[in-house]
Amino acid sequence: MPNVTLYNPTTEEAISTLPSASVEETDAVIAKAKAAGPVWRAIAPADRARLMRRYADVIADHAQELGEMETRNMGMTIGNSVWCANNASNVMHYFAGAIEKFGGSTLPVASGVNLTFPEPLGVVGLIAPWNFPMMMAGWKLGPAIAAGNTAVLKPAEITPHTSVRLGELALEAGIPEGVINVVVGSGGNVGWRFVTHPDVRKVSFTGSTEVGKRIMAGCAEQVKRVTLELGGKSANIVFADADLEKAAAAAPGAVFDNSGQDCCARSRILVERSAFDRFLQLLIAAAKEFTIGDPMLPSSAMGPLVTKEHLATVRSFSDGLDTVFTSDVPTGPGYWHPTMIATPTDANARVVREEVFGPVVVVIPFDDEADAIRIANDTEYGLSGSIWTRDGAKALRVSRAMEAGTISVNSNSSVRYWTPFGGFKQSGLGREHSMRVLDHYTELKNVFISTEA
Ligand code: NAP
Ligand code: MG
Repeated sequence: MPNVTLYNPTTEEAISTLPSASVEETDAVIAKAKAAGPVWRAIAPADRARLMRRYADVIADHAQELGEMETRNMGMTIGNSVWCANNASNVMHYFAGAIEKFGGSTLPVASGVNLTFPEPLGVVGLIAPWNFPMMMAGWKLGPAIAAGNTAVLKPAEITPHTSVRLGELALEAGIPEGVINVVVGSGGNVGWRFVTHPDVRKVSFTGSTEVGKRIMAGCAEQVKRVTLELGGKSANIVFADADLEKAAAAAPGAVFDNSGQDCCARSRILVERSAFDRFLQLLIAAAKEFTIGDPMLPSSAMGPLVTKEHLATVRSFSDGLDTVFTSDVPTGPGYWHPTMIATPTDANARVVREEVFGPVVVVIPFDDEADAIRIANDTEYGLSGSIWTRDGAKALRVSRAMEAGTISVNSNSSVRYWTPFGGFKQSGLGREHSMRVLDHYTELKNVFISTEA
């Protein structure tokens, strides 16, 4: 079993060395999850709901500890990481409630009746990325176990700490052994084994589009169920009639939050030409307020990037980039990258088309509503987006015309666990959150019962 050493991206100091599971060890965990399936499903729904609620409370009780752990591991600001812990707790509460509300239907047919049963799939494989480790774990574990499945969760190998802790807390809360299993290891060993192992009946993956495509192809071999939450290049559309001050004040957070390492990052700001210069001034002023520093300090709006390797990837976009604003960064150790605003004119520039996953935003002018929609949709991605306007009808027209799954109007905030979340086009497949996600963690069985005499 090889070991993986992890570093605090703020201090560059080693924080832990963890064993990395082999394929054989992964198989043993999958077997344990399979054995726990009947145990979990034998518990009455109300009691399973109670256990999940207790788990939710235990997570909330440990929110500060979990938040600090996440911040040390990957550099997210402490406010965000504690929020993520509470979000994971809330997701558990929501899906605890779902257990007693989710069911099938009764359909009258000639000479009988049809009953539908949403049946658990069995063991589900959950693969999480490094950018929101604990929150992604919560988003997947909640619906997976509420639907009656047992789960094997693979955090990104570089950000396993909070997932491991969530696994321990599940046992503390009384969730039976084997229902929630956390396997620390690489994508190639552990993640890919979820794809190829016949007892894993579904893979729910959040990560890059590139790896997502490979997982989907691998799952095809067994017609395995798959949900994909992938990358994005989301548009933040600002019309000239918008509250420009409000839109500009919100824009840095919409792309620089979590150091830009956010699948929903609004990394392309599209501004109506007549308001372009004014908005850019306001945006630069707002970006100056977005301070970079030690993520443990509540005064920091942004911390470092996750690793030295990821810093190099982001620099491959930003080195030599012609910017209208580049922030300062702290001196000394840490994987710091400045926030940057650029106004490139080449629509095919890499920084315009590809997901940077760092604190770099491009600002692009548009002529009218149709032009805004054309530019917004001119991407292989379709995860998120925002529209700023005082014209309600226009906001609705543009929302409907955007090829993206998760849109906000006069706000950056579009992700809530009781509303569906997911991407169009190459940003994903299937949805997370809301009662609808339960369809992705169950098989619908249809039973006909004859009533003939
Ligand atoms: P990634 O490289 O695709 O990795 C995601 C996860 O997949 C990690 O746990 C990784 O394991 C694992 N993995 C890698 N190769 C694998 C393989 N061949 N088989 C099975 N599993 C494999 O993504 P990332 O760099 O961690 O995260 C950044 C990406 O995630 C961005 O593109 C971002 O947009 C996307 N994202 C999307 C959402 C959304 O909801 N749409 C949310 C957050 C992030 P190891 O790294 O441990 O090897
Ligand atoms: Mg990766």
